[in-house]
Amino acid sequence: MSDPVVEATATETARAVNSRERSAVETIEKVFAHIRRIDGDLGAFLTLTEDLALECAQRIDARVRAGEKLPLAGVPLAVKDNMCLRGTRTTAGSKILGDWKAPYTATAVQRLLDAGAIPVGKTNLDEFAMGSSCENSALGVTRNPYDLERVPGGSSGGSAAAVASNESAIALGSDTGGSIREPGAFCNIVGFKPTYGRVSRFGLIAFASSLDQIGPLTRTVEDAALTYDVMAGYDEMDATSLDMALESAHEGLRADLRGLRVGLVREYAGQSLGPSVEGVYTRAYSDLERLGAQIVEVSLPTADYGIATYYLIAPAECSSNLARFDGVRYGLRIEGADMAETYDRTRAAGFGPEVKRRILIGTHALSSGYYDAYYLKAQKARTKIADDFKTAFESCDLIASPAAASPAFRLGAKSDPYSMYLMDYYTIPVSLAGLPSVSVPCGWVRPEDGAHEMPLGLQLTAPLFAERLLLGAAHAYERATEHAKKHPARIGNGVVGRAVGKS
Ligand code: GLN
Repeated sequence: MSDPVVEATATETARAVNSRERSAVETIEKVFAHIRRIDGDLGAFLTLTEDLALECAQRIDARVRAGEKLPLAGVPLAVKDNMCLRGTRTTAGSKILGDWKAPYTATAVQRLLDAGAIPVGKTNLDEFAMGSSCENSALGVTRNPYDLERVPGGSSGGSAAAVASNESAIALGSDTGGSIREPGAFCNIVGFKPTYGRVSRFGLIAFASSLDQIGPLTRTVEDAALTYDVMAGYDEMDATSLDMALESAHEGLRADLRGLRVGLVREYAGQSLGPSVEGVYTRAYSDLERLGAQIVEVSLPTADYGIATYYLIAPAECSSNLARFDGVRYGLRIEGADMAETYDRTRAAGFGPEVKRRILIGTHALSSGYYDAYYLKAQKARTKIADDFKTAFESCDLIASPAAASPAFRLGAKSDPYSMYLMDYYTIPVSLAGLPSVSVPCGWVRPEDGAHEMPLGLQLTAPLFAERLLLGAAHAYERATEHAKKHPARIGNGVVGRAVGKS
């Protein structure tokens, strides 16, 4: 059933609410009716914040009536459940946080709320954002709105599924090695990871602090730019926040790619993605050319080491970040005979298998005797990868590649962790280099093992701080193609639903 209020983009909703064509309250009531209808089958949300949403909507309506114009007036916002929203249960997809309620709100979330966005709920994710399919969540299954037997991607899978199925106009995700871009690609929406440090990490539950970056998942590039402009910028509460001038990404939206050189990575050409997937990307690159871009070849000789490098650095940082979950300060606590046993029991029961695996790898890589061989070596490799990008950007303005190694796969298909890690082949080197990068819908393929066509994402990557150029180009591509317009017509046939919690 289509409802223009529920289907509206953030840009359209803000325009309608600011001009008092409709109220924020009316918008939110319709959105919740839609969520109640479909989320039992989809499982995008872990917690719905309906009371808070209505309260916020009333406040926004009052501000608009008083003459204020708000960039996100009445825009529904879903928040990945590793970001704090004051007074609301925050789980990071883990059992170890129990019923912990956030005592404060993350800076990125707060800035969106101040600009008029309405928090509809907290979305499912892989435990502590470790994964590529949402299947590592300890709290429930999220399904792909285009095929309920498939994953929505991860780790920001709940956020992607929510936006793709119109349960929210915008959502926040966090991207450490691909967790915004890959679910964006799997769900046919826009997933944007800004330059590391552009958006404050204050109030984001840390996974790998030198890589984690918050960004938007939206149905259009314009909405991504709008959201980014509101939440980016210096925050004294985050020591790695960039204190430098921001250019509006929204004002940089453009209609063509004239004058831009787009680099295709020579080393990626050898990756076999299968003929139908390759056909979609070949067409995407020629669309870029048709829009005026000059296609050039670039080389990233060390990108192949991205996954090995990442799976030392990210676990090392996570082993240190997750030490705080000890049964004393947060949520779950299982008593033992003494303190050490309480720690052991709590952590043994509270963390899932992937999180434990990474804590073990990370602790090992950092231990004396192995530090130089693993962690230090990985840091050196990271620098090399970043240098490769720097060299590549001497001969191009943007780099284009696939966003993920395949379209969305079937639930349970990647039980071997290594095969899951390979999904991020194209996103991880970009993350290691800290670069801004976006995934935009670029076409459809029918997987060999599937009955439905599934979407693919085109990843565009820019030099550090070039968000404006990046989103400008992504907008031109999106406008010239029709891929983003295809939305899930119907979901939920015959799938057993699941109750959704309330805050
Ligand atoms: N899939 C990658 C991992 O499991 C990336 C996750 C992320 O970006 N948060 O670590």
